[in-house]
Amino acid sequence: MQKIKVGQSSIFLIMLKKFFAIFNKREFLAIKSSTLNLTRKAISNPAMTVIKKLQKSGWDGFIVGGAVRDLLLNVKPKDFDIVTNAKPAEVKELFNRARIIGRRFRIVHVYIGGETIEVSTFRKRNIANEYDRHGRLLRDNVFGNIEEDVERRDLTINSLYYDPIAEKVLDYHNGISDLNKREIVIIGNSRKRLIEDPIRIIRIIRLASKLNLLIPNNLKKEMKKGGNLLQNVPKARLSDDLLKLFVSGRSLKGFNYILEMELQDFIFPNLGVCLMEKKKGSKTLTKNGFLYTALKNLDERVNRNKKISLSFIFTVLFWEKINERRTDFLNSEISEYVAMQKAVNEVFYDISQNFYFQRKHLAGVKELCMLQVRFSKFFGKSPFSLVKHLRFPSALKLFELRVKLNEVEMESVMWWKEFSLSPDNKKACMLSTMKNKAGIYKSVRRRKRKKKGSIN
Ligand code: ATP
Ligand code: MG
Repeated sequence: MQKIKVGQSSIFLIMLKKFFAIFNKREFLAIKSSTLNLTRKAISNPAMTVIKKLQKSGWDGFIVGGAVRDLLLNVKPKDFDIVTNAKPAEVKELFNRARIIGRRFRIVHVYIGGETIEVSTFRKRNIANEYDRHGRLLRDNVFGNIEEDVERRDLTINSLYYDPIAEKVLDYHNGISDLNKREIVIIGNSRKRLIEDPIRIIRIIRLASKLNLLIPNNLKKEMKKGGNLLQNVPKARLSDDLLKLFVSGRSLKGFNYILEMELQDFIFPNLGVCLMEKKKGSKTLTKNGFLYTALKNLDERVNRNKKISLSFIFTVLFWEKINERRTDFLNSEISEYVAMQKAVNEVFYDISQNFYFQRKHLAGVKELCMLQVRFSKFFGKSPFSLVKHLRFPSALKLFELRVKLNEVEMESVMWWKEFSLSPDNKKACMLSTMKNKAGIYKSVRRRKRKKKGSIN
């Protein structure tokens, strides 16, 4: 008898919950995609295949996030992320070539026609006891329904669900209206959501720069306030998002946001970046200065689909600090090579406390820095092998940028450009002229040093 009572009361409770859930359910707009100029033709064939298969099997299947946002802004999406109510194992079962990846939060990679489509299951914000002492959400890995999935997303413009078969866009948070206003709006309480996951600060900067969106002033203030929390996020996540910013084709704009919100010290806590800008108390990169020019060139290359080198980007970012340390070491009378080596090792040890580098990039940075030393060597085989070095074009680019820091004369840059392009007999000629000059400089320097020593 008692048992039945408990059963009855729990059924009653469930019914009550369901009844109130009807009222709690978020209102959403289901907009006909044709009225938004969105057609399924914009979706890649493999993504369409996945959605069709999901829906035919009775599951939901939506394109969500960046792809919908980008398509509505007439920007080519990087990829098509799909969400569904099917659990990973149920998704995997539907496709011949699919793999469940991720240990904590499992998603499915479906491989079709050379494309990898990421399919995730609706999840919800897990609010029970899953925060660290700074308020950062540690786990976000509980399956949920679409209403819950919307709530865990970061921005209103990232929470649009496109069903290309029903030709509808579900908009729970006025994302379309914010897109029309070209404004970044966080879902929920901005401060809480930034504390919960400080990486969102970098995401906002990245998206605002890439898509030319407005970050309202009060949101900027919150981002600035939450900047110190970036020190506690896992370095792999931070590095990932920063790298995306650097290769977005809008790195200059993004970097200026970082300076404007004074986030640079939290991103690279052990290292002053932009020492020059700091000295002047400036909140943007100096127009046509060292970093400004480097990032502008980088953006131009990305936008023209040219190859870029991450090692080069890192070297430029940290060059000022490396060079400062190199000069410190030089004063203690060690060779230029050793001073440079020590400086690079020390600076990169510091950065890698907070930033994740792939070994190959670290090796690339070292090489680029060591090559800088060789631009002042005009003896032996060094100049010949330098210009044949695989990284010579990048090294020369850095050498040229250093003119902006008054470390290098434009004349030297022009000399090396000409030298690299000249036939061997002209090279020899150029070198002997240079050796004479360098010989004079060397003897003057030696005499000066001796004189200094004698006073002591
Ligand atoms: P991009 O064009 O750079 O891929 P994106 O918005 O698609 O931008 P993704 O990292 O691919 O970025 O994320 C896909 C979607 O997942 C986002 O649009 C957003 O809805 C959600 N998302 C990603 N990261 C977060 C986060 N840190 N907090 C909340 N939601 C997130
Ligand atoms: Mg994406």
